[in-house]
Amino acid sequence: MVELKTDTSIDAMHAAGQVVGRALTAVRKAARVGVSLLELDEVAREVLREAGASSPFLGYRPSFAPTPFPAVICASVNDAIVHGIPTPYRLRDGDLLSVDCGAVLDGWAGDSAISFVVGRARPADLRLVETAERALAAGIGAAVAGNRIGDIAHAVGRVCRTAGYGVPQGFGGHGVGRRMHEDPEVPNEGHPGRGLPLRPGMVLAIEPMLIASGKDGYHEAPDGWTLCTDDGSRAAHVEHTVAITESGPRILTERPA
Ligand code: MG
Ligand code: MG
Repeated sequence: MVELKTDTSIDAMHAAGQVVGRALTAVRKAARVGVSLLELDEVAREVLREAGASSPFLGYRPSFAPTPFPAVICASVNDAIVHGIPTPYRLRDGDLLSVDCGAVLDGWAGDSAISFVVGRARPADLRLVETAERALAAGIGAAVAGNRIGDIAHAVGRVCRTAGYGVPQGFGGHGVGRRMHEDPEVPNEGHPGRGLPLRPGMVLAIEPMLIASGKDGYHEAPDGWTLCTDDGSRAAHVEHTVAITESGPRILTERPA
């Protein structure tokens, strides 16, 4: 069932989303060569603590997971696409890092992710990240009342495929509300004009995932969480929580500079 949120609820979700945005900006600033993924998790924990927010990631255990998730961010490096568990791994020059973070404030959730290069970037990585951001923007642009879920999926997928990137199947966006993962599913590829009609009050996480090689294959790492590309090529993942309103899409997880 898809729950429609009131304007007041959307404002409350925006407050949760702002905590996520602050956490991601803080993590990005802290992410330098030599810093560990566990240290980045601590940076995000501090932002959530200060805001009085809780983490929907910490202790999360969906049906596929062998263990509860142990952190407040997912930190996915290089060939890791999503769901990376923060470890003592220290960032190296040129690493491509994706950070996903959520927060629950006053009972409402926010969910957002960024990808960026630590240290000196390879042009290919910058192009991958830039395309991911363009795919996200295209998806958000399609998140308007009167469109359907398939319009968002198509907009996201077309940007990724046109640039020659792979799109891992089976993972994508979702509804957001009092829980981080609600109906409906928002795939990263689809057919325009198909699927659930979009209505004001729907809040969706839109989250393109791109594989640099152009292949779609991925597998679960031995930790049971991290999804890695089959061919070892790099991946990017970006995400915003977006409300569909009478006046167009409203990003609830925008980040401070
Ligand atoms: Mg997320
Ligand atoms: Mg999400």
